[in-house]
Amino acid sequence: MSLTLKSFIKYVEERNGHEPEFLQAVTEVTEDLIPYINSKKPELNDLKILERMVEPERVISFRVTWLNDSNEVQVNRGYRVQMNSAIGPYKGGLRFSPTVNLSILKFLAFEQVFKNSLTGLPIGGGKGGSDFNPKGKSDAEIMRFCQSFMTELYRHIGPNTDVPAGDIGVGEREIGYLFGQYKRIQNHFTGVLTGKGKDWGGSFIRPEATGYGVLYFVECVLDHNKDDIKGKVITISGAGNVAYFAAQKAISLGAKVITLSNSSGTLHDPEGFTIEKLTYISSLGRDLDKYPKKFKTGKFHSGEKPWQFKCNIALPCATQNELDHSDAKQLIKSGCKIVAEGANMPSTAEAIKAFHKAKIHFGPGKAANAGGVAVSGLEMSQNAIGQQWNSEKVDSRLKQIMVNIHKTCVRYGAEDDGYINYLKGANIGGFIKVANAMKAQGV
Ligand code: GLU
Repeated sequence: MSLTLKSFIKYVEERNGHEPEFLQAVTEVTEDLIPYINSKKPELNDLKILERMVEPERVISFRVTWLNDSNEVQVNRGYRVQMNSAIGPYKGGLRFSPTVNLSILKFLAFEQVFKNSLTGLPIGGGKGGSDFNPKGKSDAEIMRFCQSFMTELYRHIGPNTDVPAGDIGVGEREIGYLFGQYKRIQNHFTGVLTGKGKDWGGSFIRPEATGYGVLYFVECVLDHNKDDIKGKVITISGAGNVAYFAAQKAISLGAKVITLSNSSGTLHDPEGFTIEKLTYISSLGRDLDKYPKKFKTGKFHSGEKPWQFKCNIALPCATQNELDHSDAKQLIKSGCKIVAEGANMPSTAEAIKAFHKAKIHFGPGKAANAGGVAVSGLEMSQNAIGQQWNSEKVDSRLKQIMVNIHKTCVRYGAEDDGYINYLKGANIGGFIKVANAMKAQGV
């Protein structure tokens, strides 16, 4: 029996209520998968593979109670969405942000299933986090929150069950506090989390991996078009880990990076950032507006996005739905040829449609930003064999994984005129392995 997109989306909408981000992610994937399944693998419809994939295997929601520095009781909500374990233990980050809700975590966990499959590593998909706002919290408050969060989460995770990592609001410091609490409770020193510090089980290149991976992916796209990165003008949004290391790698490859941004505006330096300028930026935290005082060439544009500045390549590395249809039109008009997503789902559905129509090379997050979780997978391997690989080895494996992801996208996303629909390629390429595993493992 064949499936229609309209009836499937209606089914998902009815089962989940108001979960706009989750619905957006499901629509984006099934627009490609439904025609593929109907024409190439109709038996998967009888097995209800898609219906099963949009239903998390398990959703855990819990109370996180902690004391702030004034000894006042604080209450937050914690979550873990264990989406799909067909090809390996659940794997995916934890996000701490006041914007976190079930819709956002389900969209992220759903995307993670495809992304993790694309890496070629044996990792399933999950995501978690809390509506806790780390902004303005003291180090002691962050520690108490992380400890309380793990006091519940520990019973649901394990190195062969579910291996969380960082995401927005969760970096090495938070992973340290979470890991310490897990070890205190379980008395196990084990690879239950990735993104650990290098001295206590972490992998070299993990902090850099997402940003570096985006650039390795962009290099593949350029190479496929017989072009290279030297001298290309790049706009980047965000000022976190992903944006920072994407900028660093781009500069070291000979490109000119002219923007970074935070939630209040965009820092534009028409002369391009240097490594020295980037180091200064990283010392500012997210206070990008302080930069122009030191370097006279830059200007902070309050309330503006980076997409108005003319570029060859745009890398949205901030957060979901940060790049909308009018931003896409602006990028297209200014001559931008490549958009690669460092964040998860930063482009709206309308923006993606505009990119495809204009034949822009559009690398979706599940392909372009898979480097982070790929090195997390390598961290799991190192923990499992009790070894630590040097940075050259991890970096070359990361590069190879990104090359393979690009190849998969080309294989399943090539259109008749030679244009590569990377989104379609990533959706189908990521899906096949998971669907085969689900089929093999029975109902
Ligand atoms: N949060 C990252 C992502 O969106 C990394 C997840 C991980 O390392 O498990 O893929």
